[in-house]
Amino acid sequence: THDVHIIGGGLAGSEAAWQLARRGYTVRLSEMRGSGEMTPAHQTDGLAELVCSNSFRSDDDTKNAVGLLHHEMRQFDSLVMRAGEVARVPAGSAMAVDRDVFSAEVEKTLSEHPNVTIVRERVDQLPEAGMTIVATGPLTAQSLAESIVTATGQERLAFFDAIAPIVHRESIDMSKCWIQSRWNKRTEASNEDGDYINCPMTKEQYLAFHQGLIDGEKTEFREWEKDTPYFDGCMPIEVMAERGVETLRYGPMKGVGLDNPYDTSEEHPQGRWPYAVVQLRQDNKLGTLWNMVGFQTKLKYGAQIELFRTIPGLENAEFARLGGLHRNTFLNSPLVLDRQLRLRNAPHIRFAGQVTGCEGYVESAAVGLMAGMMAASELAGRDWPALPRSTAMGALLSHITGDAEAATFQPMNVNFGLFPPLHEVKKKQRKEAYTDRAKRDLVEWIAASEPLPA
Ligand code: FAD
Repeated sequence: THDVHIIGGGLAGSEAAWQLARRGYTVRLSEMRGSGEMTPAHQTDGLAELVCSNSFRSDDDTKNAVGLLHHEMRQFDSLVMRAGEVARVPAGSAMAVDRDVFSAEVEKTLSEHPNVTIVRERVDQLPEAGMTIVATGPLTAQSLAESIVTATGQERLAFFDAIAPIVHRESIDMSKCWIQSRWNKRTEASNEDGDYINCPMTKEQYLAFHQGLIDGEKTEFREWEKDTPYFDGCMPIEVMAERGVETLRYGPMKGVGLDNPYDTSEEHPQGRWPYAVVQLRQDNKLGTLWNMVGFQTKLKYGAQIELFRTIPGLENAEFARLGGLHRNTFLNSPLVLDRQLRLRNAPHIRFAGQVTGCEGYVESAAVGLMAGMMAASELAGRDWPALPRSTAMGALLSHITGDAEAATFQPMNVNFGLFPPLHEVKKKQRKEAYTDRAKRDLVEWIAASEPLPA
């Protein structure tokens, strides 16, 4: 018997196991690789295998949100950060690792720990009882995915992400765009002026943009991604462009019903409707992030930045994340999880890692770290005081467990747009102000909440 059953020995599951074990709790860690099973992206049986790049991205904890996340994880003796240090290879201000050394170090630490039992097995059903952490990642085995669908309901578990670029609100030039909902339609939740930022295009601008979509360099689908049906409601913008020059003007770039206050020409037979428009919609409750509606894309990142900065108002756009389309199993966490990552209708089950709708090695490990701490608190019969939202861990957790818009929920990297804004600080000093505030608040939180029970 064990205190917690963790399913999935990737980045998140390994970190969660470590956080529980070091606090004195026993863990059964079930990992299907090594039992004759494999995912389409993994190559080895090692725990915490990095499936693609060998980088944990920036290690700068003074100006970068993921660097700050490294710093915070180190305050909790993170296994992923610790093994990363052992496996580190030179990469300037980034943190990159030798993937084999990294995975071996994680596996050695856990397999030598008396509180951890690693079992090579595929789990096909969510356990009906017993504290559980599900950390099966973006390529969760089909059988378990079906069991999750049964527990959460259809439509609550996605099998593909379709990510439209997300822009930092403060980088949008509002002297060229305006806020309005089409036909001024409103709902209960609407803002007073309207819910969309509209970036208008003339005919010439539209035609050039359309051509740019067709010519731009695209990322190829991987062999195994081709077999997964994804086209429902998330067709890439460039595929729409290829269907004809007018397709986008009848789709996401429709100008009808939008009154362009900057149009000073005399002729307005129907209204000051732009020839075409790019619309952005609020993406988080803080209002700091806005997504480009309908702009999911397989364009390469460089091509996206170049082309999207030709959109009027987005010339200086800073992207919190660029668009993409991948096979990716993830929950609609804002709807189905509580603030402690527990399934609302089966609270003995927590989720962790990319399946919760975070994105990236470091983020996945960070959510695993938090899930481990939360489970430890619960076992000790203690309340788990919420992490401050001003910290990278707290900001990420708040986003996936409720601050993100559930209707458009898509996986998210950590970034300063998730933090409560510091408008009063000059732009040049803002990143440092975010990281300073986070470090201060985390020290306070740890003083009040740690040492966690053993
Ligand atoms: P994983 O690390 O995938 O771990 C999940 C584990 O659960 C796996 O070991 C799997 O074998 C196991 N498992 C699944 N189902 C079951 C089951 N039913 N029973 C038992 N075990 C099970 N992020 C980056 O930061 N940089 C990148 O370059 C990058 N590239 C990526 C490339 C691809 C192709 C993919 C799919 C993702 C990539 N990611 C990348 C995103 C992501 O952050 C990683 O996938 C990360 O490993 C997620 O961590 P995790 O712990 O949630 O899942």
